[in-house]
Parts: sequence; C-alpha cells; structure tokens
Amino acid sequence: MRELIARNCPVCSSGSEQAVPFLDRKIDESRINEFSYASRKEPEYMCYQLVRCTTCDVIYANETPNHETIGRAYHEAAYNSKTEAQDAAGSYLEALKPHFQTLKDRTGVLEIGTGTGVFLQQLKTCGFSDLVGVEPSRAAIEAAEPEIKPVIKEGLFEKKDFSPKSFSFLCCFMTLEHVSEPKQLMAESHSLLKPGGMMAVVVHDWRAWNNRILGAKAPIIDIEHLQLFSAQSIEELFKRTGFTDVRCASFKNRYSLAYWNRLFPTPAPLKRLIHRLLEALRIDNLHLPMNVGNLMVIGRAPAAEDLT
Ligand SMILES: [Zn+2]
Repeated sequence: MRELIARNCPVCSSGSEQAVPFLDRKIDESRINEFSYASRKEPEYMCYQLVRCTTCDVIYANETPNHETIGRAYHEAAYNSKTEAQDAAGSYLEALKPHFQTLKDRTGVLEIGTGTGVFLQQLKTCGFSDLVGVEPSRAAIEAAEPEIKPVIKEGLFEKKDFSPKSFSFLCCFMTLEHVSEPKQLMAESHSLLKPGGMMAVVVHDWRAWNNRILGAKAPIIDIEHLQLFSAQSIEELFKRTGFTDVRCASFKNRYSLAYWNRLFPTPAPLKRLIHRLLEALRIDNLHLPMNVGNLMVIGRAPAAEDLT
C-alpha cells in the first residue's frame, strides 16, 4: 500500500491545475488491518490526500495504490456485515422497483461488487434470471447463501469475462468509490448492456448535509474511498461514458438502531454505552429509514430505435 501512483481527475481527466485541496492525507499504517478494507466497519477517518476537481465537482485521491494492490486488499479483507448488507439490498430494491417497469426483459443481470449476492437473491424474486455477480472478497463469498454462491465469480470486474450487449440490468452499489478507474468500469459496463438496458449505481453524496456537517469525521472519509461523488460529478461520469436518460435521486436507507449507532461519530466508549442501552431496551434491532446522503443513479444504453 506504500507505493502510490499520481492520477488526474477520475471523472473528467482534468489535471492538478483544476484541483483544490479538500483534506490532507491521514493514514496511520499501524491501524491498517484486515477490517480496513471490509465493508461497514467502524469509521477510522483515515484517507489519502484528497482534492476537489473544480471542473466536475468530484473529490478524489490524487495519489493511489495501483489496481492490483487494491484488488489484493479486498481479496483478503474480512467480512462481518451480513445483516447490514441485507438491509441495504432491501432499500435499493425499493428505490429501483419503479424503474424496472421500463425494462424490455429481465434476462441477464450483472452485479459488480456483489458481496454475499444478497441483492441478486432479491432480484430473483422480481422475475430476473441469468444472474451473475463479481466479488473480490473471498470472505464475503464464503458467507453467501448456498443457492446464490454458484453465480458469484471471485475476482475484480473484467469486461473480457462477459459477452458484449448481453445484460438487461447492471448494478454497482457502494463500489464506485473504491476502484482506481471508475470511468473505465462505467464505459465497460455500458458495452455489456443490451440496447435499452439499464445500469444502476449507488454512491455516497459528499455534498449531502450530514457529510458536510461532519466534515473530516464523516463516515465517507475512509482509506477505501479513492473518490467521492456529488450529484453533478456522478451524472457527469454517466454521460461521459455513453449513458442516456440519466437520473439521480437521493433515497432512504433502512438500518437497525445498532448500525446507526455504529455509523454515528461518537467516541468509542460512548458508542459502546449506547449499544448496551439499546440492547437493554431491546430496540437495537429496530429498523429506521433515514436519508443519509446516498444517491441512486440510473442510466441507459441507447435503445436500438434511438440509434437509427
Ligand atoms: Zn473532474
């Protein structure tokens, strides 16, 4: 992780002359462990040097580890968030259901960063078939249910593993922040969609009020996040990679009180105290929907009739 490569804006390719400082590098090597690259851990507030692109509004690390090093970190990461993954998948499905009506067919689905494949499982109940997921973390795949495990491919997403124009629906949730080349991922995803097919992405919104208030203590400030989007920058990424009919909206996440407590930027001892209190009151598993500044973004590959 020590060897870093300089990079330009991962959305619009602007160089350092279009970048303004956002947050200084803050990494304590001694605190990096197997959970640093696991999803939904307790926030550590570590990050690479972050800058903001004044052209497209994305926040990005202008120096990152290389693609292979990042892949290895996720491959070896621990996995401890099954319940939260299930809750998140349910929230995504609710936000997406109205958009599914517009799909011509429901055959061929690819989820990039599928985790335990829990969202694919839920899609099955909505009539989707020919499902496949890609996931680098071995621990996450091992935690997958036996019925979905066989459709999860271990490794990083690679376009060459799939046939062009073969998917009706592609999705990538809370993953785009983690990859070193988000533009490449989006362009390659686009090439795998059937004409009229749809891609859905969920990202954190760094401009959301909660993230702005918390600043350097926002849970989005994380060593795993190589870029952070706003509505403007994520829409820009979709449009630059060929998507049409791009729609971006915030939505509510439904999580347990215990998990909300874990996300909140309280000191660790207080966090433990609150957790014990929630348990004592037997409300730790009570689920509450909240808008925490996540964006659901949808784009389409042009339909055949639009191309003629
Ligand atoms: Zn930019």
